[in-house]
Amino acid sequence: ENVPAVTVMGLGPMGRATVRSLLKAGYAVTVWNRTASKAEDLVAEGAMMAPTVSEALRANEVVILSLTHYEAMYAILSQAEEALAGRLIVNLSSDTPQETREGAQWVEDRGARFLAGGFMSQSDDIEHELSYLFYSGPKALYEEYADLLRPICRPEYLGEDYGLSQLYYQAMLGVFHPFLLSLQQAFATVDAYGADSGDFAAYAEGFAANLGAFVPFVHALHKGDGLEENAGDAMMEASADHVAKTSEAVGVDAPVTRAVRTVYRERLGKSDD
Ligand code: NDP
Repeated sequence: ENVPAVTVMGLGPMGRATVRSLLKAGYAVTVWNRTASKAEDLVAEGAMMAPTVSEALRANEVVILSLTHYEAMYAILSQAEEALAGRLIVNLSSDTPQETREGAQWVEDRGARFLAGGFMSQSDDIEHELSYLFYSGPKALYEEYADLLRPICRPEYLGEDYGLSQLYYQAMLGVFHPFLLSLQQAFATVDAYGADSGDFAAYAEGFAANLGAFVPFVHALHKGDGLEENAGDAMMEASADHVAKTSEAVGVDAPVTRAVRTVYRERLGKSDD
């Protein structure tokens, strides 16, 4: 029998979800985590725990990393650099494109191959039909291992530049963060006003689902394709001012909206309050 086998290092929520996807697909999964106790329930579910970094690396050709940042990769892999030669390191940790390219080089300098990735998922729900996983790195390498990596999450390969998966991931998160904060601000404002944020949430969900239709519009704006009058700076500044004052009138701070208002004020050449 030829049971596919991989190692997963880093057992935070994403690493744990990765291990479970692979176990479900019938893989032999070796795990390692700095805090070893996080491996216990996964071992009960069928994973094998490697006691050291060296053994975790030597257990399999393909080693998946799911860590807080690239700094953690160095902290872990430097414990057993001699075990890196001949491996494929697939780093699914977040960081900047620059850190990712440097990390790839560091791994390659030690005789291993490298793929970078970034999960696009709502928290650790990587099996959700809307979840996917950006990959970047050498195309031939990606294609060689695409079938093996397939059970983790639906893949989207972006290109040879190692930094691309993190570039797209960070660009997307840059959109997501203000969305998260401003939606929390919206709920707080509706409740503080005395209305029902539960009722509002249903409208907000529909509104958020329709935001996709704005993407081509914003892209056209970015390209300077003559749509500027539809989002004029004066109108946008006034609009942001109304949002901020609506929240502030009921005692809810509106830092994201204040930042938005500042952007438009600066474009208009006004000084901020
Ligand atoms: P966590 O930060 O919860 O866990 C990361 C892992 O990194 C843990 O196993 C932790 O070990 C390890 N780690 C951190 N620093 C070090 C170090 N210096 N040395 C050794 N190990 C270290 O991350 P998540 O599981 O939530 O996420 C993993 C990656 O996926 C992140 O880059 C995140 O940005 C990204 N991501 C997360 C999503 C989410 O919703 N959570 C969604 C999409 C992507 P220990 O257990 O010992 O602390």
